Amino acid sequence: MTHRLHPQSSWDTSEIGASTRPGSIDVDLIEDPQHETGELVDMHESIAQVLATQGKWRLAYSHLNEALRLARDTQGVTPLIPEQYQRQVDELRRAHAEAVDASLRDALTASYNRRYLDQKLDTLLAEQPRDGKGIAVGLIDLDHFKQVNDTHGHLVGDRVLQQVVALLQADLPAGSFCARYGGEEFVLVLPEVSPWFAVTTLERARARVAEHNWSKIVPELAITISAGLAHRPGWELPQRDAEWQLRRADDLLYAAKRAGRNVVAYRKSGAIRIAGLDDTCR
Ligand code: GH3
Ligand code: MG
Ligand code: MG
Repeated sequence: MTHRLHPQSSWDTSEIGASTRPGSIDVDLIEDPQHETGELVDMHESIAQVLATQGKWRLAYSHLNEALRLARDTQGVTPLIPEQYQRQVDELRRAHAEAVDASLRDALTASYNRRYLDQKLDTLLAEQPRDGKGIAVGLIDLDHFKQVNDTHGHLVGDRVLQQVVALLQADLPAGSFCARYGGEEFVLVLPEVSPWFAVTTLERARARVAEHNWSKIVPELAITISAGLAHRPGWELPQRDAEWQLRRADDLLYAAKRAGRNVVAYRKSGAIRIAGLDDTCR
C-alpha cells in the first residue's frame, strides 16, 4: 500500500536556527516498520530539541524518551496500519508547530521575542527591494516603570506590560509585528512603509497608551511610553543591518526620554524631531 504524506512547511524549523531533521515523510515504505519508526523517532527528537531551546526540559525529556523507546523496539515492532501512522504523524506535526511558535514568543506578553525579532528583521532588511518604501523600527520603553513596580508590585507591573502590548498591536499595518526587546522595552517593525506613515503609526500607539484607562488595573495608575523611530529607505546599502538600525532607534529613544518622555523621536534630514511638536502629527 502506498501513502505519501506531504510534510507541512511548519515542520522545517531551520528558519529559527533549531538544528532539526526536517521531515520528508514518505510513507511509500509503510510496510517497513523500521523506516516508519525512524520517521517517528526523528519527529520526537525534533520536538524535543525545540522544547529544550525554551527550557521545557520535562516535555523535551518525554519526547526524547519516546524516541528512545521507539528506536529500541524496532526489531519486534508490529507495523502500524497507515491510518494509525498518519494520526501519529499529524499529532506530532501539531505538537511541533506549537513548540516552534512558543519558542518565538515571549511567555509573559505573548508578543514575539528577541530571537524572532533578530532573525525576522535581518531577513526583512536583506530582502528589502531597493526601490521599496523602506523599513521602520520603533524602539519603545515604558516611562518610569520601575516606579510602577515599586509602588504597586511586580504583578501589577506584569499586567501593565501585557496591556501595553495589546495597545501596541491594536492598529498595526499588515506585515508589521511587535516583539519584546527585553524588560520593559518593545520593538515595532513596520516593513514597506514611508517615514511619515511610520511616524504617525508610532504616534498613534503612544497616544493609545497614554489615553488608556489604566485605573482598571489600579486606581489612578497612569502609564506612558517613549519611542525612538529609525527608518531605513529601500535604496540604502544593505550593509546596514538590524543591529545598526536598532542602535539608531535606541539613540532616538534616549532623545525622546531627554525631551521629557511620552513622545516619539525620529530623524528628518539628519535633525532629531519630536512627533506632534516639530510636525503636524498630532
Ligand atoms: P525610564 O523612564 O528612564 O525608562 O525609567 P524606568 O523606571 O522605566 O527604567 P529602569 O530601567 O530604571 O527600570 C525598568 C524597570 O522595568 C525595572 C524592572 O524591574 C522592570 N521590569 C523589567 N522587566 C519586567 C517584567 O517582566 N515585569 C515587571 N513587573 N517589571 C519588569
Ligand atoms: Mg528600559
Ligand atoms: Mg523605562
